[in-house]
Amino acid sequence: MKRARYSAPVALVTGAGSGIGRATAIELAGRGYFVALLDRDERGIAETELVITATGGEVEPIPCDVTDVARLATVLKAFTDKSERLDAVAACAGIEVLGDVLTLEETEWKRALDVNVTGVFNTAKHTLPYLLDVGGAFVAVASDAGVFGAQGYSAYVASKHAVVGLIRCMALDFGPRGVRSNVVCPSFVETPMADRIFAASSSEDYDFYQAIVPLGRFAQAREVAQVIAHLLSAEASYTNGLVYNIDGGSTAGYFRAETASSSK
Ligand code: NAD
Repeated sequence: MKRARYSAPVALVTGAGSGIGRATAIELAGRGYFVALLDRDERGIAETELVITATGGEVEPIPCDVTDVARLATVLKAFTDKSERLDAVAACAGIEVLGDVLTLEETEWKRALDVNVTGVFNTAKHTLPYLLDVGGAFVAVASDAGVFGAQGYSAYVASKHAVVGLIRCMALDFGPRGVRSNVVCPSFVETPMADRIFAASSSEDYDFYQAIVPLGRFAQAREVAQVIAHLLSAEASYTNGLVYNIDGGSTAGYFRAETASSSK
């Protein structure tokens, strides 16, 4: 095992410039991690950095696109050469792509798979050597679209099912070598991504998707971040290959809010 330059544990969060990735970076910094903030959106990273450093947290901004594998390898090597350790990786970067097989352009299909699946693969490939060094942990953000289908989301659903499969294989391949890999599957979370999806959808969609959640509301990004931080921590030392639904019960079964019991 290498000598660690930082006494604090070190985490990398992709997609750290917005939504779930930002909330995860904030959560991990609050738990004492030094956090590398990786995102293609430099302004987003800077905003996350401001929030964390204002409360005394330590970060390293890393502007990078997870599909740019050459640059990703270079920036991660430069970062880990400095940090000399990497304990935890949260792969949150992702994009929404709407459409069914007939309406999707081939370029949109490829882009969904490139960012959402190959981006996680690239992140894993270039961080696993460091995680293996310290017995670290990896968490990817898939979606409830990684465990069941959704009308009009073919490329997104296919990409998120693939992320679940990838993480299951990482759990089998690297669990024996001390690295735990888990995947979280949130339903709608109140982030800029969800805002964009609902802005592009019919006005009934927001009410429909909220009505199928037994808890009766969408998740906050912090609620997802807390689960990710838990899975990355020693508290979750026996979790590996877990597909963790964070969906207020919406994938538990068929549900109609209007027939839910109101008795106390
Ligand atoms: P968001 O759009 O708020 O944030 C995503 C971040 O990823 C952005 O900062 C963006 O710049 C970054 N990103 C996108 N493509 C990138 C790339 N190629 N390289 C580097 N960075 C890139 O979205 P969010 O809601 O926080 O989503 C985070 C993850 O959670 C995604 O994987 C998404 O699919 C998943 N998810 C979101 C929801 C939801 O309702 N918001 C539900 C389930 C799963």
